[in-house]
Amino acid sequence: KKAIAVMTSGGDAPGMNSNVRAIVRSTLFKGCRAFVVMEGYEGLVRGGPEYIKEVGWEDVRGWSTEGGTNIGTARCLEFRQREGRLLGAQHLIEAGVDALIVCGGDGSLTGADLFRSEWPSLIKELLDTNRISQKQYTRYQHLNICGTVGSIDNDMSTTDATIGAYSALDRICQAIDYVEATANSHSRAFVVEVMGRNCGWLALLAGIATSADYIFIPEKPASNGEWEDQMCEIVSKHRSKGKRTTIVIVAEGAIDADLNPITPKQVHKVLVDRLGLDTRITTLGHVQRGGTAVAYDRMLATLQGVEAVNAVLESTPETPSPLIAINENKITRKPLVESVKLTKSVADAIKAKDFKKAMSLRDTEFVE
Ligand code: ATP
Repeated sequence: KKAIAVMTSGGDAPGMNSNVRAIVRSTLFKGCRAFVVMEGYEGLVRGGPEYIKEVGWEDVRGWSTEGGTNIGTARCLEFRQREGRLLGAQHLIEAGVDALIVCGGDGSLTGADLFRSEWPSLIKELLDTNRISQKQYTRYQHLNICGTVGSIDNDMSTTDATIGAYSALDRICQAIDYVEATANSHSRAFVVEVMGRNCGWLALLAGIATSADYIFIPEKPASNGEWEDQMCEIVSKHRSKGKRTTIVIVAEGAIDADLNPITPKQVHKVLVDRLGLDTRITTLGHVQRGGTAVAYDRMLATLQGVEAVNAVLESTPETPSPLIAINENKITRKPLVESVKLTKSVADAIKAKDFKKAMSLRDTEFVE
C-alpha cells in the first residue's frame, strides 16, 4: 500500500483544514495509507509517530468548518539546511511515506521542491551512514511531491486564487462594514491597514467591494506631492455629495514599498490637516486570517485536495512536481518550480520598480 502524507506550512490560512481533510479522505478512498505531518517542516525534522502520524477517516471529521490548521504550521530554520532535510528524509522513510503534499506559500513550496530534487543524494547519504537499510534505499528511490497553495495573500502566479484569500477578503469587508457604521454616526474618516505582503490583491478587492474612497497598493505606488491632492479632491467630492464616511485602505505592501512607502499615519495627517476630518487608524491584523473559511475556500481546498492525491498517484520520477491551481474555474496542474519562480520574479520586478513587468508576469500563463 502506498502512503501519502500531508502538511501545512508557512502562514496559516482559512481552508487549510478542508484541504487536509480532502487529501486524507481521498488517499484512503484510493486504498492508500494517510499520514499527517504536524507543525510543518518542524515535524519532518523531529520525526516519530508524534509528528508523522497515521490517520483514519474519522480523524478529520468536521474539519471543513474549522478555521486555521489543526495539524499546525511553523517556520522551520533547520529545514533550510541540508542536515534538516536529511533528517526529514530519514523520518519519512522510517514512517514508510511515499509521497508528500505540502499546503503552503511560495517559501514552503520552494522547500518542497528542493527536498524532492535532493532526494537521491539524501537517501544515498542515509544509506552510506547506515541510517537506512539497503531494502529501504531500494524501496524509497523517489519521493513524489505536490503543492497546494494556502495563503491569504493571493500572491502565487499561475493560479487565480489561493486557499484562504477569499476568506480573508470577506473578513476585511465585514470589518470595514463595521467601521463604516461608526464612521457614519460620527461623520469620521478611517484609514484601514490590511495584510497581503507584497501583493495588493486584498486591499484592491476590499476597496472595490466596500466602495472605499482611496486605496494604496504596492503595484501602483503613490507619487509624492500628487496623492495628497488627488485623495483630498476625491474625498471632498464625496463629502460634498452628502457622504458622511471616508474609508482609505492601505495595503501592507504599500507601507513596506521601497518606492514611496505610505504609512497610515501620513494618510491620517493629510486627512486631518487638509480636510479637518476626525480621523482614526484601524489596523485589522490577525483577525483577517482567523475564523472559518468562506464556502468558496472550502470548495477550492476540497477539489484541490482530491486533485493533489490524483497527481501524486500519477506522478513518475520524470514528471515535474505539480502545483494544484485554479484557472478560469477549472482545477488545473501547473509545474511547481516554474510557478514559484514566476512568483519570485513578480516580487523582484515590484522591488525593482518595474510595475509593467510585474503586471505582465502576473498574467503569464503556461502552455501545458
Ligand atoms: P506565507 O506566504 O504564508 O509566508 P510561505 O510558505 O511562503 O508562507 P515561508 O516562511 O517563506 O512561508 O516558508 C515556510 C517554511 O518553508 C520555512 O520556515 C522553511 O522551513 C521552508 N522553506 C522556505 N524556503 C525554503 C528553502 N529555500 N529551502 C528549504 N526550506 C525552505
